[in-house]
Amino acid sequence: MALTVMEVLKTLPRTNCGDCGQATCLAFATRVIKEGEELSRCPHLSEAAQAMAGEVESQQAAGVGRRRESIAIALETLQEKVAPLDFAGLAGGVGASYGELDGCPYVDLDYFGHRLRVFKDKVCYPEGVQANPWDAILLYNYLASQGKMDATGTWITFQTLPNSVSKTKTLKRLEGELAAHFAGKQPKLAEAAALLQAEPVGIAQDANLQLVFRPLPQVPVLLLFWEADPEEDFPAQVHYLFDGNVSDYLDLESLLFLVEQLSDRLMAA
Ligand code: SF4
Repeated sequence: MALTVMEVLKTLPRTNCGDCGQATCLAFATRVIKEGEELSRCPHLSEAAQAMAGEVESQQAAGVGRRRESIAIALETLQEKVAPLDFAGLAGGVGASYGELDGCPYVDLDYFGHRLRVFKDKVCYPEGVQANPWDAILLYNYLASQGKMDATGTWITFQTLPNSVSKTKTLKRLEGELAAHFAGKQPKLAEAAALLQAEPVGIAQDANLQLVFRPLPQVPVLLLFWEADPEEDFPAQVHYLFDGNVSDYLDLESLLFLVEQLSDRLMAA
């Protein structure tokens, strides 16, 4: 079986020191698996990571890194899409702040608690490190929506969104993976969620944990977790819900990517 981002991440120091040129170890692991980045660019590899290097290289040689080209094309296409947009006009609606640097417009917005600066041709962390292309694609999609609808306060399921039938399986897989990871470990999930600044809520569900995340300013995500009960033969369960305004800000693919990022961050935490 092919190595996954999470398997590589587990062997990294997870200090997010940035010495590899990425802002986080998760971003680096993603680049290694999905873009063919060399594992040795992290100068702090553990013995376990070094032992994995050969397998990573074989996987990359087998073509996993070939996705780079299609991602680059998707990114360029989106950059062309946002080029004519008025960043000053759309910033308020998407919960961002507008600025200019050397005459170039940008918006600053919070993404999973990190402040990112989105120019029309690049997306950077404050230290100047460029965001990985998947995150950049998501943020350009978010801006291109030019959304401005306030949260409705009503939580809806993915299945109720238009044209979501063919993609529901992907969300169920993500929910299943997260539930399996935290089965029997409810306190660990609560700890991981706190690190991501989740807010506990009570919305009349019988779930053991009800947590609202804000990965993007206008896209709250509600995570419901039911702990496993071996005596009742009840497996742990996770459901993700979204505000009724979510279609105003993200298309279905972007929303699934956002959920995947949230799940990965929880498991990595
Ligand atoms: S250099 Fe290594 S430890 Fe530092 S952020 Fe990159 S992957 Fe993580």
